[in-house]
Amino acid sequence: MAEILVLVEHRNGTVSRPTLEALTAARAVGEPVAVVLGAAAEECVSRLGEYGAAEVLLCTDPAVTEVVVAGVVDVLSTVVRERTPAAVLVVASAEGKEIAGRLAVRLGSGVLTDAVGISVDDTGVRVRQAIFGGSTVVTSRVRRGVPVVSWRPNAVRAEAAPGTPRVTPIAAPPGADRQARVTATRVAAGGGRPALNEASVVVAGGRGVGSAENFALIEELADVLGGAVGASRAATDAGWLPHTAQVGQTGATVSPDLYIACGISGAIQHVAGMQTAKTIVAINKDPEAPIFQIADFGIVGDLHRVVPALIREIRRR
Ligand code: FAD
Repeated sequence: MAEILVLVEHRNGTVSRPTLEALTAARAVGEPVAVVLGAAAEECVSRLGEYGAAEVLLCTDPAVTEVVVAGVVDVLSTVVRERTPAAVLVVASAEGKEIAGRLAVRLGSGVLTDAVGISVDDTGVRVRQAIFGGSTVVTSRVRRGVPVVSWRPNAVRAEAAPGTPRVTPIAAPPGADRQARVTATRVAAGGGRPALNEASVVVAGGRGVGSAENFALIEELADVLGGAVGASRAATDAGWLPHTAQVGQTGATVSPDLYIACGISGAIQHVAGMQTAKTIVAINKDPEAPIFQIADFGIVGDLHRVVPALIREIRRR
């Protein structure tokens, strides 16, 4: 069985859910080999074994773990050259996408972005990609070298397949790029909420929310549902929420089980980032708002009345 390298995203040893999803996808087409970098890399091993990693390559060398993405690319490109896997999977987060692009250039291959499915035939790995903001799915392959695949969060469900992986320590390649170093890490304020691109529920607010203070209502609904808080660009441009909360063409792409859009009109640039959500609920006082065209459930009304009623009802149950 061909090896599929999966780059592990983790925070201090806690493996991200999209990584477990990528491992699940990799398992279906080959033998997943997880690559983990960082001082806490070893803490990821049991979790990766639980999700079917056949082997875990551990790099704790500060020469690469304390530098920005270039160090990761140094390690991955070395591993790819040594092992020639069938593909490399990275999570399609902001950092993952940068790593994917740099790695493909280094390898002289290509990137398949926003993958939602993967298969193998006698021509190699084929990937189903969500394109045009997720409105179309195409099947693609890279014709030269080892394909680098950026795996879209929430495209598949992470499924456990417990095993005991082989653990192989790896060293930083000589001459690893050390020009840009991480000097501080800021943890985004989220009040213990799940990350936007990992959450199975996202409650998003737009201009209709009206103010930064009013976002407390959106946050409360997110909290009763155990979800993340998102926003339209109108809301982030107004400074009501940081830009990291923006969903859409120039923000995050999310595919949660449930997306609740409150006071969001449904501009094409917003829809590009959330239309693959499994269930979309729109709350808008304008019955003609375009968001209703893609919503599974629509509530025409003032969100300042509808959302508190929703929260009360959810709490009551
Ligand atoms: P509006 O379009 O103003 O809609 C507000 C909605 O709230 C209206 O439908 C109104 O009926 C409703 N409303 C008002 N009050 C209430 C109330 N009390 N109760 C219920 N409903 C109410 N936008 C993004 O979101 N993400 C992006 O990534 C993004 N990228 C862009 C990239 C480019 C290059 C460009 C040009 C634009 C981009 N935009 C993006 C902006 C986008 O075009 C829209 O301007 C933006 O999405 C509008 O945000 P909104 O829906 O919150 O505001």
